[in-house]
Amino acid sequence: MKITVVGTGYVGLVSGACFADVGIEVVCVDIDQKKIDKLKNGIMPIYEPGLEEIVVRNYESGRLSFSTNLGEAIQDSEVAFIAVGTPPGEDGSADLKYVLAVADEIGKTMSDYIVVATKSTVPVTTGCKVKEAIQNALDKRKSDLPFAVASNPEFLKEGAAVEDFLKPDRIVIGVEEERAEEIMRRLYKPFQLSGDRIIYMDIPSAEMTKYTANAMLATKISFMNDIANLCELVGADANMVRAGIGSDPRIGNKFIYPGVGYGGSCFPKDVKAIIRTAKTYGYDLRVLQSVEAVNEDQKHTLVKKVKKHFGDDLSGMTFAMWGLSFKPNTDDMREAPAIVMINELRAAGAKVKAYDPIAMEEAKEVYVGDKVTYCDDAYDACVDADALLLVTEWSEFRMPSWSALGKLLTNKVVFDGRNIYDRKYLKEMGFEHYGIGI
Ligand code: NAD
Repeated sequence: MKITVVGTGYVGLVSGACFADVGIEVVCVDIDQKKIDKLKNGIMPIYEPGLEEIVVRNYESGRLSFSTNLGEAIQDSEVAFIAVGTPPGEDGSADLKYVLAVADEIGKTMSDYIVVATKSTVPVTTGCKVKEAIQNALDKRKSDLPFAVASNPEFLKEGAAVEDFLKPDRIVIGVEEERAEEIMRRLYKPFQLSGDRIIYMDIPSAEMTKYTANAMLATKISFMNDIANLCELVGADANMVRAGIGSDPRIGNKFIYPGVGYGGSCFPKDVKAIIRTAKTYGYDLRVLQSVEAVNEDQKHTLVKKVKKHFGDDLSGMTFAMWGLSFKPNTDDMREAPAIVMINELRAAGAKVKAYDPIAMEEAKEVYVGDKVTYCDDAYDACVDADALLLVTEWSEFRMPSWSALGKLLTNKVVFDGRNIYDRKYLKEMGFEHYGIGI
């Protein structure tokens, strides 16, 4: 079987490499020539644990190839996946221009029946738009080639993307004809070894499923942050409350960790997009509007604590920041709360010395540039800093040497944006500890 995956970002590259790894012939296509050249030289354009090994192995075996030529790639492909970006437009709705450009190009160049499956996160009705774009391009060619569209939203998590793709909890496939369903069934067979994980449905339901999943997860996070803020006011410990409720299987213990707000390329834009979709149908998604508002506030919570401790004017002060990416095990800086905090600290006159194990290059090139001093390691960031801010809970930050840090920092004060440190122990070591909701 041969397939094409269009877009070699977090979703496209991981999917393409994992499909190749089970024996499928895969062409990964991108319009970014630099990205494709890098990949041909074994250089990963993104950081994702385990990805490089799987890409290189399959590229060397010849099953995985890279190209900028979509028309050429889709010849003999049974499926073309669309995995390009769907960034938020000005009004918050998902911008479909990349998705529809790919659909148009497929219509212009296809020469046989093909299933065009959308993996990008797209609003309900996009399936119809993709179909229309392909059909229009075929009409212009006066061609009556048959094709099918499908919706196959992706649920992988950055930081564990390869693992998630190879061992999915579920695979959602929206299709409207049997031939396409059969091809998708065959394609995903190798990922079904521990039982059938495919849930078939109509295309609009598949499109809604992806947004609903992300909206639900974002809701859990904002809900818990809201509760944590109240815990702080009433003198309760949000960590204990979390443990107390998470043991109820109806609630579950995942995604209920208080912190500095969600970020990344998915939750913020997908929450915005589903709110926008609802508005176009004359409906207000009131819960999600609050989820978004709570999250916006939460990104300021740690710097508020800094100001409460040191005063609003932070001129002449320097803060060490551990972690820049929006979560551990990724270099993704899109919508990272660290960006908001850096801007806020600087606006109050402070300097920031940052260290992140993986995301510093991305931060420097695209997101915060020279607004911070990038450090060689976590301890280096603390030299002569007035306090430490823990922003991303990378493993290597979990058990630092507090005695060493006590000598490096000017003040023994820690603002723990992820509640990873034990306040009692820090107190014994002479540190003041601020957490979220504790
Ligand atoms: P990304 O920005 O990392 O990658 C998108 C790629 O598409 C880029 O390399 C870009 O050059 C390429 N591209 C754009 N237009 C193109 C065209 N016309 N032809 C070929 N390539 C083109 O994006 P991503 O994070 O992989 O996300 C892709 C989609 O998947 C989005 O809709 C996103 O919401 C969704 N999604 C992302 C994740 C995630 O964790 N990142 C998870 C699930 C779903």
